[in-house]
Amino acid sequence: MNSFHEFEGSKAKIEKEGENYFAKCECGWNSGAVSSSEGAIVKFEKHVKSDPKHKIREEESGKNLGSIFLGLLFLGYAVSPGIIPYSLVIVGWLDNIFALIFGMLFLGKGWDGRSPREALKDVF
Ligand SMILES: [Zn+2]
Repeated sequence: MNSFHEFEGSKAKIEKEGENYFAKCECGWNSGAVSSSEGAIVKFEKHVKSDPKHKIREEESGKNLGSIFLGLLFLGYAVSPGIIPYSLVIVGWLDNIFALIFGMLFLGKGWDGRSPREALKDVF
């Protein structure tokens, strides 16, 4: 009989094939043949702890890299001369000021794990 085992937010299917047990992780990892279901579970938990695939998922839940990247792009634009030259009074500065505002917004929201779409939803 097949069963599921959950560990630190990751799920594996524990399958019995003949005399052997296999743990199959949702990421595609496979424990290979193990003599007991307990052994397969131990192997799966070790895999979740050590495999970078599961670590990356943890980091992504904390920070949104897309928003942080967008924020840095806008901040980069804010400190650059911009498309409109500074010599045009007020208008020349406006694009940089807006870039600064959006840069801070995306960087701040991204740091809290919000996607760019979610960051904009809070404003508009
Ligand atoms: Zn896995």
